[in-house]
Amino acid sequence: MTKAPGFDTLQVHAGSRPDPATGARQTPIYQTTAYVFRDADHAAALFNLQEVGYIYSRLTNPTVAALQERMATLEGGAGAVCYSSGHAAQIMALFPLMGPWSNFVAATVLYGVTVTQFIQTIRRFGWSARFVDTDDLAAVEAAIDGDTRAVFCESIANPGGYVTDIPALAKIADKHGIPLIVDNTSATPYLCRPIEMGATLVVHSMTKYLTGNGTVTGGVIVDSGKFDWSANDKFPSLSQPEPAYHGLKFHETFGNLAFTFHGIAVGLRDLGMTLNPQAAHYTLMGIETLSLRMERHVANAMKVAAWLEKHPAVEAVTYAGLPSSPWHDRVARLYPKGAGGLFTVALKGGYDACVRMVDSLELFSHVANLGDTRSLIIHSASTTHRQLTPEQQVAAGAAPNVVRLSIGIEDPDDLIADLGQALDKAGG
Ligand SMILES: *Cc1c(COP(=O)(O)O)cnc(C)c1O
Repeated sequence: MTKAPGFDTLQVHAGSRPDPATGARQTPIYQTTAYVFRDADHAAALFNLQEVGYIYSRLTNPTVAALQERMATLEGGAGAVCYSSGHAAQIMALFPLMGPWSNFVAATVLYGVTVTQFIQTIRRFGWSARFVDTDDLAAVEAAIDGDTRAVFCESIANPGGYVTDIPALAKIADKHGIPLIVDNTSATPYLCRPIEMGATLVVHSMTKYLTGNGTVTGGVIVDSGKFDWSANDKFPSLSQPEPAYHGLKFHETFGNLAFTFHGIAVGLRDLGMTLNPQAAHYTLMGIETLSLRMERHVANAMKVAAWLEKHPAVEAVTYAGLPSSPWHDRVARLYPKGAGGLFTVALKGGYDACVRMVDSLELFSHVANLGDTRSLIIHSASTTHRQLTPEQQVAAGAAPNVVRLSIGIEDPDDLIADLGQALDKAGG
């Protein structure tokens, strides 16, 4: 080919060649735990990381490897490692960077369970998160100290669909010699490519738009390969000798694939949050239609959000794609293909009206998921954000009078009709 292939081509082809053994055109599900070594020397070289190959499916598997290559390609990164869920990917993104007493700076607007993971669970590891409004760049900078090892944000943030100024955050992270980690789940690489905006690591819950139809849980980390892990002494797991591999230094040995190799050779080997090949297969099939679905999600979300904004029972709609949104200019500048399919609606009738609306919908499903072909709704305050205090709920964009919509790819007029009848029943 004379020109570099476009996104629509790569989402179908990247990482998935015809099967070398059979010619199978669709990537087979390699449902195997182990792989036969050619001989004892081959086995030793694989275990010493002197040769790359398949040993055991906790570490690597050909179906999963195809997905890893596709995701690295679509995000424009050097390498990628898949994990068993989006939440596993988040922990594994932090694991090589953090140690006891280290901290990272996190955006206040995040997926609800991520907030819980960051406030509660990671304390057991001696890590801590400092939450700041990432639009307040001075506050971001002020939160970084000598023990800070990363900045973490979502590109299009849950649940309100807020859009983040990734280049501004990348600049601050760079200045302090720490990586910016972007959770790109709600945008997908079709709407946002964080690495091109300066991010070091991109994490995804593949459970959502990438698979696209609510069939599997999975996660991935894509590494830009651009961060200099040896520039300072903050990242010894990557820059210093690894005792479990006879003193091998990951950055010195693997260069721009250091983070990726560490994620497999230490991360999956010892922590085992492995993606299974069936889930990888479903996700590969989902990604084949990613751009087509995202275009429709965006078009439908625009139409539904614009209709809701004018409805008398509605107090506010957060969709960043609306001309009335305070984020409208940022969307045009950084997210020109659209602001995704996720937003919240505040009802004048408060908590009770939200519950009645959710119970009255027929086409929308009441589920704790997003990024499905089907339209979904959830009342965050009584479900996903239930563990948070009322102040934290409001800060996270999940106040009691707010419902979150994930707009699917159905006929938008049918979605509007369903919302109309449910709002009538919900009352004002
Ligand atoms: C769903 C989600 C996660 C968690 O992913 P799982 O696959 O459910 O573990 C993390 N971040 C965002 C933005 C999500 O939407």
